[in-house]
Parts: sequence; structure tokens; C-alpha cells
Amino acid sequence: MYLEKLVLQNYRNFDCLDLSFCKNINLIVGDNAQGKTNILEAIYFITSGKSNRTNSIQDLVKWGKNFVLFRAILNEYGEQDNILKDYIQNNNILSVNKDNNSHSCYDKDSGSNYTSQANTNKKLIEIEISSDNKYKIKVDRVYYKKKSDFTFILPSVIFSPDNLALIKGSPSFRRDFLDDVLEKTNLDFYKIKNDYQKILNQRNSLIKTLNTNIDVKNNATLDIWDENLIKYGSEIIYRRILILSNIYKLFPKILIEFFNDIETEIVYNFSWNDKIYFSEKSNGFEESNYKKFLDLPKQKALESIRDIFSFYLKSNIFKEVNANSTLIGPHRDDFNVFFNERDIKLYGSQGQQRIAALILKLCEVDFIKRQIGKNPVLLLDDVLSELDILREQTVLKIINNNTQTFITTSNNNYINDIKDFKLFKGNKGIEIKKFLVKNNKVEII
Ligand code: ATP
Ligand code: MG
Repeated sequence: MYLEKLVLQNYRNFDCLDLSFCKNINLIVGDNAQGKTNILEAIYFITSGKSNRTNSIQDLVKWGKNFVLFRAILNEYGEQDNILKDYIQNNNILSVNKDNNSHSCYDKDSGSNYTSQANTNKKLIEIEISSDNKYKIKVDRVYYKKKSDFTFILPSVIFSPDNLALIKGSPSFRRDFLDDVLEKTNLDFYKIKNDYQKILNQRNSLIKTLNTNIDVKNNATLDIWDENLIKYGSEIIYRRILILSNIYKLFPKILIEFFNDIETEIVYNFSWNDKIYFSEKSNGFEESNYKKFLDLPKQKALESIRDIFSFYLKSNIFKEVNANSTLIGPHRDDFNVFFNERDIKLYGSQGQQRIAALILKLCEVDFIKRQIGKNPVLLLDDVLSELDILREQTVLKIINNNTQTFITTSNNNYINDIKDFKLFKGNKGIEIKKFLVKNNKVEII
């Protein structure tokens, strides 16, 4: 499946955009501040239901306007549906003309463009956000209540300069990365995470009221929160470890394309100071012990995690009372990437850190693909900045041909490089489409 068409109205710096993409490489070129990143954000938004840049959806509405409209046509193979016919017959699905000052970019989408493709299978996703923060989502013209209902249709993975935080930033960036992948690949994860967060908040509130030994002992409410914290928390930990083990299977293989003399480890750090090493070697570092959970059947692994979690939760309660908060649990876990036994957060070069963050994202693409059987859309914002020419070319070579990819750049030379299709692995039949973003408009070049 791939994103065939994107129509935007009153979105960020654009009045109207109507873009048809190709199924391989879409290159978005333009000077600074023209809207390249905005376009990737829109694609991420319509495929995931959230922005990668803001939590306030009003930021997406063009300044001075009172609604924003996103419409995407996804092209899928194999399944038959009637959406296209309906689409042609009724091209006023959302009342986009309510703002008289803005011209609608929707009308020109009707009819002939689509009849020629009527034998292919499409999905239509529409999101409209109005100034009162009302959020309407439709898939094939049926209203969807929850974002999670449609985010599995066409998952996306975005890599932007902000993702350096995956290596350099606080642990929450790395936890969010893992949890985000889990959300994209497990229907129930959002709820598990939500339940954990609620219990954590309640437990934290309770802990703030506790002062003494007597308060803590035989406190039935605390026992209930502990039990649930352990239940949901262990599930989160188990799934994160599973994901990291999958990521680690691919990580060194991609890394070698960039640096052939680096051995890498990934280390999951528990809130209780234990670690799991994902490592190929046994000297230098402690012998890899990650199999201790992963070799067990799920229920057994969960039991082991629960036991350890429970032990540390109980033994740290006085510390927690002093700190006024819960110190044990997946909300305090972290992971780190090591190159040649050194934490790259502290010792890696800027380029190494960016490459490590990029590889994590490429591993995410692979994981999603294997987990849900769909190639996610890959969005690479400014991926080439700070990379030397050799490594720029490596990025292009390792992009998977089957993954629809969007690349932004302000470097015009890059267009010339990319004209040389050989940069792409197995270049036969790879489509490349180039767009120039300028003066709040986009043209094909
Ligand atoms: P660079 O090459 O510097 O990364 P870019 O092409 O990626 O630039 P964007 O980040 O997409 O640029 O931003 C383009 C412009 O959109 C910015 O000047 C920004 O001020 C503007 N902008 C952001 N949000 C809105 C909004 N809601 N309404 C109008 N303009 C907006
Ligand atoms: Mg940008």
C-alpha cells in the first residue's frame, strides 16, 4: 500500500495542496522555510493521527483560518472496494467550502483523473479539524471514533533532525520511541500504556500522602495500585524487550554499511538498575544475558518480570515516600546504544549519533513490516544534513525499494545526484518523483 494522493486545505503555510505521489521515492526540494517539513508532518498526521511536531492540533491550522482539512488516497493491491466510484460520484465529502475566502482544492479532483484508475483499490482517509478542536475522521466515508482505528491502515515512520534526541535526549524520548513502535504494531498497547499511566498517577498521589512506616504497611490501597502497576508495567517491559531484541537483530547489519569497524551493543536499563545487553560478543562487556527473558514462553517471561518488579517495588517504597513519587517501573527505564563499548550519547560524534538514530528508525520500518505485513511509508526530513558524501549515498542505497519514501532536502545538488538512479539499490523500475516547494506552492520538477 502507498500514499497516492494528498489533498490539504488551510494546512500550515499552504492554502491548498493537491499532490500525487509515486510509489517509490518522492523527493521534496526547496529553500528553507518553504514548507517541506510541513508536508512530511501532514503525511505523518494522516497516517498516524498525530503530529510529530506538536501536541496542539490547532497548530496545524493555517494562521487566520478556522479549519484544516487532510485527505489522503491510499492505493492498495489485492482488495476490492467501491470507494473510488463513490468518490467520483460525491466529491463533496466534507464541506470544505465553508470558508468562502479560501478556494477549495478539492473540486478539481473529481471525475476523469480517477476513472482511469477505477480498477485499482483505494482507501480514502479524511481528517477535518475545526477551530473548536472538533476532530472528524472518516475512512472510506465512515466516521471513525478513535485514531487507533485507522492508524494500522498505512503506518508511517518519520525521521527528522529532532530525532537526534533519540540518542542525545532524556530517557523519555527513547521510551516513547519503543512505545510508539508498540502502538503501531499492537492493537492493545495503547490501552495497556494508558492503564499503566492512570495507575501510576493514582499511586503517585497516594505516595504523596504517606509519611511513616505505619502508613506503608498493610495499606490496602497501595497494595492494589502495586498489583496493577506490576501487571501492566510487566507487559510494557516485556514488549519493549521483545522489540529491542528485534531491532538489535538488524541494527549491526545496517550499521556496517556506514561504519565497518564498529561493534555495537544496545542496553536496556531497568529502573531497578539491572540491565539487559543485546550484544554479539561476550568479551569486554558482560556476557549477553538478554535471553533470560526472551527464551522463555511469554507467560513464564511475564512471571519472571513481575517477580523482579514486585521485589524492587516493595523494597524501594521508603525511598519512594521520600521522593514523593514512584521510582520503580517502565516509566523510569531507558536504553542506550554503544559503539565499541562506549555510550554514543556521551562519546559518539554528531554524525554517528544521527546515523544511530536513523538506523533505529530503519529498524522500526523493518519491524512494522514483519509484524503487520505492511510496508510503512518512510518520511526522511533533512536526513542528509551533517552526513559526508559517502554516508549520504549509503542512506540512498539502503532505502528499501518496496518502501514508499519521502525525502526533503534544501540541497539542489542532491537532485542532480539523485538523477543518477544507480544510487538506489536494484534501481530497475524505481520511480522517482521530484517536487519543488516555493512560495507556498508545490510544483513537479
Ligand atoms: P527548512 O529547510 O528550514 O527545514 P522547511 O521548508 O522544512 O524549511 P517548514 O518547517 O515546513 O519549512 O515551515 C515552513 C513555514 O511554515 C515556516 O516559515 C513557518 O513559520 C510556517 N508555518 C508553520 N505553521 C504555520 C501555520 N499554522 N500557519 C501558517 N504558517 C505556518
Ligand atoms: Mg524543514
